[in-house]
Amino acid sequence: MWVNSVTKTFVLFLSLKFLIEEILSKINSRHILKHREQVPHGFEQFIDLPTYQKSIDYTFSKSKFSSICNGWTFFWDVIFLCSGCLPFLFSILSKYFGFTIWGQAATLVTVNILLSFLSIPFGWWRQFHLEKNFGFNRSTQTIFWTDKIKGYIVSFLFGLPIISAVVYLFQKFPNSWWIWGWATVMFFQTVMIVIYPLLILPLFNKLTPLGDGELKDRLLELAQLTNFPINKIYTMDGSKRSAHSNAFFTGIGKFRHIVLYDTLIQQMTIEEITATLAHEIGHYKHQHIRTHLIVEGICTLCGFGMLYYLSLTNWFLESFGFYAAYEYSLIPLILIFSIAITGITFWIEPLLNFLSRKHEYEADQFALKILGEPEPLISGLRKLHRENLSNLTPHPLFTAFYYSHPTLLERESALREKK
Ligand SMILES: [Zn+2]
Repeated sequence: MWVNSVTKTFVLFLSLKFLIEEILSKINSRHILKHREQVPHGFEQFIDLPTYQKSIDYTFSKSKFSSICNGWTFFWDVIFLCSGCLPFLFSILSKYFGFTIWGQAATLVTVNILLSFLSIPFGWWRQFHLEKNFGFNRSTQTIFWTDKIKGYIVSFLFGLPIISAVVYLFQKFPNSWWIWGWATVMFFQTVMIVIYPLLILPLFNKLTPLGDGELKDRLLELAQLTNFPINKIYTMDGSKRSAHSNAFFTGIGKFRHIVLYDTLIQQMTIEEITATLAHEIGHYKHQHIRTHLIVEGICTLCGFGMLYYLSLTNWFLESFGFYAAYEYSLIPLILIFSIAITGITFWIEPLLNFLSRKHEYEADQFALKILGEPEPLISGLRKLHRENLSNLTPHPLFTAFYYSHPTLLERESALREKK
């Protein structure tokens, strides 16, 4: 066991994180159960009591499930930090893959894949029990397991060159590697945004260009009206795995795609889908994607800065049972850092979610301005919430911490206010 002031500090942060997660979950569950007997005022027209109660039960089940997942993650994080099993795993894999740049990168990717095995039973249970019980699961065992294998192949193929590049820079430029490493990661990330819809998404889903017809005409008309360069509109077979519905943008610049889930097209009217697209165009017009990338870039740079500082010391790695020579110390550093840091980044999440909720309001207001009326957006949002059994009455503290989108009530009142 590695129990010293460093491991104790990080375990304290992780315990605090777990404790706050549990408290927030309890507060939220109690709050939603209090509202179980009556549909919130103003929503009686679009959701009946049984569906509303089903949405409460769904939220409650998800919350109980996340508590178990959080406990499991906490348990393993403490084991990894204090038991010395990570240095053991690292030394076995390093002997196998060797200490070349590629060997070190392969060790890191393999450890990450092995660690992710721990969460597979939970993913499986979520899909085939939790989601199934509420009528959302459409996936099969074959789809579930082939998704996993494809995911691991993709992370190996893309993870290996990125990590190798960073290890190379680490060895070549001992003082400035963290700046170059950061620039490399950001560059790869931008490339990934471009190739994701072209290469990776099609591995998992079938994308079909949206057929000619009223829906396509209306969407193109809207794109022209808002001077939004639209490349392609696709429908995606989201129904292959789940009954949940969604729409999203992917790619950047010339490579931008709009993807509509087939489930969304089934559930919404043409007006509602057009309103959803207007909201998405709002994100583009307000440059939210760029802001998001800048914030992410700053956070990643801070991470690299911390790694650089820690790479200059011995105490950090030694506290966790590693005795790597400087040349080979980056991979153990990343390993420990990525586990330990979650006890700190957890506290930044509410700030990022606050920014995201602000962006959602702005995109809604943009859609309102373009459409001239709030109704299609509101009825689209209501359907999304009803069909996905989203919770209508979360506790304000819970939403402040976790919600990247304002609640339906908040969005509706903001849309009606500015009418
Ligand atoms: Zn949005």
